[in-house]
Amino acid sequence: MSDIFEKEKRSEVMARIRGSGNKDTELRLITLLRSQYIRGWRRKVGLFGKPDFVFNRERVALFVDGCFWHRHGGCKFSYTPKSRPDFWLPKFERNVMRDRLVTRTLRKAGWKVVRIWECQLTTKKQARVVARIRKALKKVGSRKAKV
Ligand SMILES: [Zn+2]
Repeated sequence: MSDIFEKEKRSEVMARIRGSGNKDTELRLITLLRSQYIRGWRRKVGLFGKPDFVFNRERVALFVDGCFWHRHGGCKFSYTPKSRPDFWLPKFERNVMRDRLVTRTLRKAGWKVVRIWECQLTTKKQARVVARIRKALKKVGSRKAKV
């Protein structure tokens, strides 16, 4: 099977893979939140699973997940390197299991968990992301927060 990526696309994908963590995406989301006047969030809060953004008052934990590391199903950035599958596949599996555990644990503790894929932060899809965040922030009254 030949490589499914053309040269240019491939280097874009590799650039995302190389990036340690997802600083660029987080910065993009910060810009987006500010431009939409969405306030009340904090970063680097010592909450289980280290959410990228935490809205303490509304008890919303927001994650921005890199499509490659967190395996965005059907996404072009969720590329699986052909070499060393024995290295990549367990790594991916661990990430996915960890994400599930984090989401489950936070929800049990009364948090609303919102996960955004990095590919959804493109200009075209930003409106939907903003709508999801606003919706999560609004729902606070209908939930009983524990702790
Ligand atoms: Zn994606």
